[in-house]
Amino acid sequence: MILETFPVGPLACNCTILGDEESHEAIVIDPGDEVARIHQRLDEFGLRLMQIVVTHAHIDHIGGALKLKQLTGAPIYLNENDLPLLKMMDTQAAWVGVRVPDVAPPDAGLSDGQIVGLPQYPAEVLHTPGHTQGSVCLHFAPLKLLVAGDTLFAGSIGRTDLPGGNFEQIIDSIHSRLLALSDQTKVLPGHGSATTIGQERKGNPFLQRR
Ligand SMILES: [Zn+2]
Repeated sequence: MILETFPVGPLACNCTILGDEESHEAIVIDPGDEVARIHQRLDEFGLRLMQIVVTHAHIDHIGGALKLKQLTGAPIYLNENDLPLLKMMDTQAAWVGVRVPDVAPPDAGLSDGQIVGLPQYPAEVLHTPGHTQGSVCLHFAPLKLLVAGDTLFAGSIGRTDLPGGNFEQIIDSIHSRLLALSDQTKVLPGHGSATTIGQERKGNPFLQRR
């Protein structure tokens, strides 16, 4: 298995490449920016991109998706509840102070319970609204791995003050869906360092009152 996560763009969104050395197939999660670098890594690993999976439609996570699709032909997956955010990319670019990236409607949705990823490394989509209405996490159960987008961070949670954000809802999503996973589950958040479900269950200040 090839698993590489690196921060891209001015907001340092964690982009993840997951590949299989036997089939030479890969998926990329959250290609927010630096598409040339992502494409180069795929090339260096000799991987063919099968899916571009976007955890939510904030510019720092989706900004490079269309460019990567144009380079590789891979389809873009996004939860439909984030389509309104996709349509306000000019507003989002103004928040961050960057140029407006070209975007296009996704090729496929990401609904709760759907299986994405590679045949060798499947992931279940967990719909976890709160940071945005279309936010999802990807649970690679056989790998004991959760790619959490901006729902859960090491010691923190995603902000809920932007359009589509809801604090009660993100807390509920984390308690009902993410804390249901085993303590050993490794978490790759959308920003910052990796953590585990056990570590966050015990020490995350946003998850202690219940
Ligand atoms: Zn976000």
